[in-house]
Amino acid sequence: MNRTRSKSAFEEAQTVFPGGVNSPVRAFKAVGGSPVFIDRAKGAYLYDIDGNAYIDYVQSWGAMVLGHVQERVVAAIQKAVEQGTSFGAPSPLETRLGQLLQERIPYLERLRMVSSGTEATMSAIRLARAVTGRDKLVKFIGCYHGHSDSFLVQAGSGVATLGLPNSPGVTQSTAQDTIALPYNDIEALKLCFEQEGESIACVIIEAVAGNMGLIEADKVFIDTIRQLTSETGTLFIIDEVMTGFRASYEGATSLYEVEPDLLCFGKVVGGGFPMALFGGKKEYMDQIAPLGGVYQAGTLSGNPVAMTAGYETLSALTPEVFTGMERLTNQLCQGLRELATVYKVPLQVVQVGTMFGFFFNSKPVRNFEDSKSSDQSLFAKVHTMLLERGIYLAPSQYESNFMSAVHTKADIDQTLVAFASVFGELYG
Ligand SMILES: *Cc1c(COP(=O)(O)O)cnc(C)c1O
Repeated sequence: MNRTRSKSAFEEAQTVFPGGVNSPVRAFKAVGGSPVFIDRAKGAYLYDIDGNAYIDYVQSWGAMVLGHVQERVVAAIQKAVEQGTSFGAPSPLETRLGQLLQERIPYLERLRMVSSGTEATMSAIRLARAVTGRDKLVKFIGCYHGHSDSFLVQAGSGVATLGLPNSPGVTQSTAQDTIALPYNDIEALKLCFEQEGESIACVIIEAVAGNMGLIEADKVFIDTIRQLTSETGTLFIIDEVMTGFRASYEGATSLYEVEPDLLCFGKVVGGGFPMALFGGKKEYMDQIAPLGGVYQAGTLSGNPVAMTAGYETLSALTPEVFTGMERLTNQLCQGLRELATVYKVPLQVVQVGTMFGFFFNSKPVRNFEDSKSSDQSLFAKVHTMLLERGIYLAPSQYESNFMSAVHTKADIDQTLVAFASVFGELYG
C-alpha cells in the first residue's frame, strides 16, 4: 500500500499545527508510523489521499453511527444549509431534536445543547457544584470527560495514550478538587465517601468506559455509586458522550437501569457535526441561566445544521437498525475470539452494543491498571499490519472501535481474513 501523499501531507501539516494534528490521537503516536490523511468517506469506508480504501471502525469516534454520507442525513443537511447556517436566535429545530432526545432518554427532563462533549461535562460539573455548594468531584482513573482542567487528572483517551498523569497547565488548586479513584473498585469508593462524602459535589463516570480501551463497569459498582451519592446529597453524572446510542439503543444508563441526576451526550447526537448536550433533573437544570444563576452559553449552541444532522441521524437509528449493527459487532467479536484461540493469541475481546475493543492481555481487563498492563507494542504492530490490509482501527489501545449501520457481513469477513493473516504472520 502506497501512502506517500499522506506522509508528505503530514509533514506539511506539522508546519502549521503542533504535531500536525488538531486532536492528539490522530497523530498515530501510540502505533507509530504516519497517520492516514483522508480525502473522503462513504458508508463504512474511508478513502485516503493516495487513493487507498479502508474499512472504517472509527467512524469519527462513533459519531457516524449511520456510516459516512448517509443519503437521508445529507439531503436534510443540504436543505438546512440553504435556510441559514447559524441564527444566534432560537429555532424550532432545537426543540424538535430536544423532544426526540426526551422520548429516547426519559431522564432528560431538561437539557441544553452545546458544541462539544468537553463543554457538556464542564457545564454539568459547574451545575453540580452550584447545586450542592461543594467543590470536589470524583472521577475514575482512565475515564475521559473531555479536556477541561478539572478532568485532566489521570484521564484516559489521548491523555493515556501520551502517558500523561496530569496535564501541565492545570493549576494545583484545580487538580486538588478532583479525586481520581480506580474504576470498578467499590472499596476505594466507599472509603472515599467515608472520608469526603460531605464535600463531594458529584461523581462522574463513563458507565461503560470507552477511553481506556473498552471496559464495562460492574452493575454493583454503578449501583453503589447511586446509593452513596443519594445518601450524601451528591450528584451522580453519567457521561454518555461516547456510549449514548451506542452501548445500547439508548446508552449505558438504560443498560445499567440506573437513574443519574445529570447526563452528558455528544458524538452520535450531532450526526457528524460539533454538537453535544447535557441535561437531567428539572430541579437542577432550572438553575442554569437564564432561569437560574449558573452561567452557561454558546454562540453556536443549537446550531441549525447540527440540529438537523442530529435529528435525522437519531430518526433513522431505529431499534431494528441498532439490532442489526449489534449482531454484526457480535459476529466480528466472536470471529476474533475464535482466531485468538486458533493462533494462541492472548487476546481479550470486549463488546458492548455497537462498540468493541481488544486488549493483548491474558486476563480480563477491568480497570486502567489492567489496560496499561496489556501488550501495547503488539497492539501497535497489529494495528500497523491491519492498516496495510485496509482495516482502519482506532490508533490506540486506549480507544474503542465502532460499527456503523452500513457495515456488511462481507466487511466483517474481510476484516477477519485480515486479522487471520496478521496473526498467521506473527504467530504462525
Ligand atoms: C469524546 C468524549 C468526550 C469529549 O467530547 P469532545 O466532543 O471531544 O469534547 C467526553 N466524554 C467522553 C466519554 C468522550 O468519549
